[in-house]
Amino acid sequence: MERLTFQPGAAAAIDDYLEYKRIVGEDDGGKLFTPDEYEQYKKRVLPIRLQNRLYVSWRSPTGIDCKLVGPETPCFCSHRYKQHKTDFEVIPKERPISVPCRVSRCTCKSYNFVPLNGTQPIRCRCKHFADQHSPATGFLCNVCSKCSGFHSCFTCGCGQPAYSHETVVETKEERLAQGKPVGHDVPYAAMGGLTGFSSLAEGYMRLDDSGIGAPSAQFLEAPVTNMDNPFLKAFQGPSSSMQAYSQLTDGSTSTTMKVSSLRRSEEDDMAYSERQYQARLKQEKITNADADPGTLQLSKI
Ligand SMILES: [Zn+2]
Ligand SMILES: [Zn+2]
Ligand SMILES: [Zn+2]
Ligand SMILES: [Zn+2]
Ligand SMILES: [Zn+2]
Repeated sequence: MERLTFQPGAAAAIDDYLEYKRIVGEDDGGKLFTPDEYEQYKKRVLPIRLQNRLYVSWRSPTGIDCKLVGPETPCFCSHRYKQHKTDFEVIPKERPISVPCRVSRCTCKSYNFVPLNGTQPIRCRCKHFADQHSPATGFLCNVCSKCSGFHSCFTCGCGQPAYSHETVVETKEERLAQGKPVGHDVPYAAMGGLTGFSSLAEGYMRLDDSGIGAPSAQFLEAPVTNMDNPFLKAFQGPSSSMQAYSQLTDGSTSTTMKVSSLRRSEEDDMAYSERQYQARLKQEKITNADADPGTLQLSKI
């Protein structure tokens, strides 16, 4: 079966590739989908993501979200948030909601954020680092026998000790009920708690006013068009540059862009999403000015 291919060095193909990775995340098992599989994937997963997005944050006892977890944010188990189960066909009824790790043989039952002290890992009161502890429930130390479970006295920027914080997994409704920002709807995988451009700043820097907050009534009542909703945009087929190139190649791996060649950092996550959103707003303005009938038709999809 022919897999999706992206022309190395071509700007449009790189954009398509990044968009593909943001949408598919880890779900292709490291092997690019075929164009058909990609379309099927989007049809199946995006509506679930839109309906059932879970927001993940690390919350201080004072109620500040000191950390908003994004796709690249590491867990206690050392794997990233995107490597955990983040799409739910049905949101579990029980609370707290468990977000288990999907890496084989990892014993992590649910995503658990551990802060860093600057760039340094923090220590447990047993003196050993988080990754020297078991990610299974109990978080016991693998190195010593005096540890009763990972417990760090590191003081967060909010002034509270790390151990008094908790990783919170919640629904959009649960966040809105507390007046917390929920951001735009985006089709990307494992967005966790990222809701706005300042999401990656620490909580006390944002004073919890980050993100765009609840959408305005005007936004909610505006007719949905293909351009202003990144979800609908994601339902469009692969762009022409992608399709053209997949016809030109024989699918050999030498022409397929290596996944590892485009490393993402945590800081990239929100910037990318924000850029895509701004580009769409801009495009929408242009489209409205031209009143292009072709675009208007597409928006009915
Ligand atoms: Zn894990
Ligand atoms: Zn984990
Ligand atoms: Zn310990
Ligand atoms: Zn220990
Ligand atoms: Zn804090």
